[in-house]
Amino acid sequence: MVQKKGRIFSGMRPTGRLHLGNYLGALKSWVELQDDYECIYCVVDVHALTTLESVQDAKAIVPNTNEMVLDWLAAGIDPNKSIIFVQSHVPEVMTLHTLLSMVTPLGWLMRVPTFKEKLRQMKANDETVNYGLVGYPVLQTADIILYRGDTVPVGEDQVPHVELSREIVRRFNKIFGNTFPEPKVKLTESPSIRGLDGKTKMSKTLNNHVELALSDDETRKRIMSAVTDPQRTHRNIPGRPDICNVYSLHKIFNERKVNEIEQGCTSATLGCVDCKMDLAVNVNKHLAPFRERRTALANQPDLVQAILTDGAKRARKIAKSVIAEVRGKMGL
Ligand code: SF4
Repeated sequence: MVQKKGRIFSGMRPTGRLHLGNYLGALKSWVELQDDYECIYCVVDVHALTTLESVQDAKAIVPNTNEMVLDWLAAGIDPNKSIIFVQSHVPEVMTLHTLLSMVTPLGWLMRVPTFKEKLRQMKANDETVNYGLVGYPVLQTADIILYRGDTVPVGEDQVPHVELSREIVRRFNKIFGNTFPEPKVKLTESPSIRGLDGKTKMSKTLNNHVELALSDDETRKRIMSAVTDPQRTHRNIPGRPDICNVYSLHKIFNERKVNEIEQGCTSATLGCVDCKMDLAVNVNKHLAPFRERRTALANQPDLVQAILTDGAKRARKIAKSVIAEVRGKMGL
């Protein structure tokens, strides 16, 4: 048996069908990591509740989980290699969250840059922000260490979160004795995928995304709506590929032709319509096997539930032994 390098824990909020940004930013690496690490992949449904806006948001969690896990499986997350489960199906995570909150100073949480950013986006302040959102990094730490995860694959922007998890672990270990490994960051290669509007990151909320599971025709329509170089108002004006999001997608999905596209764009011999059509053809070609697998998986109605039930059973086995140890160390 091949010796694995460690145990990965990673999670995604149940946002429903995934898009190109999710795939290139995380899912693709998740699939690759399965060969070298024991991987535990979690649908973090409790995290989704921290920014809940209505009861409809809560009711969408189960169908969104189903759609998202279909994407995971179709992309190559293999339940025979990895544990795939839903966060709340292992209630021990709530226990560990509470216990870790006893060793986590509030100041550490208030200083997290993404927390401040979230407050700004939500137009919230100390009086209106919910406790769950403040404690988000504590729950995230519980997620990782409950399964003795020692490696967390993240992009550059998530590094401070893992650093905070390490601080919480250090503090716990210092008070109660060495219990958990300090989780390490594994920086993943994730090209920054802007949205079709070209300005921000690809996001379902901003409706500037391309879902992986779209039909060829829907994909083409979405890509044809993409913003390109704003200075290129006429076909005979040379374009600037380096600032064009369509070009950055060509670099990923049409690698073979990037030089030709760059040359055509800068010399104004290639028009944006043709350039986008070409991209759509290549994105569809790239996603065809994924889409075929996804359709076949979706035709097995109980499959996702069966995989998640089995995953929760396997995850809970680890969680129970960890909680027993923690309770013992804390004298409970
Ligand atoms: S030709 Fe292609 S790369 Fe150039 S601006 Fe138009 S869409 Fe962008």
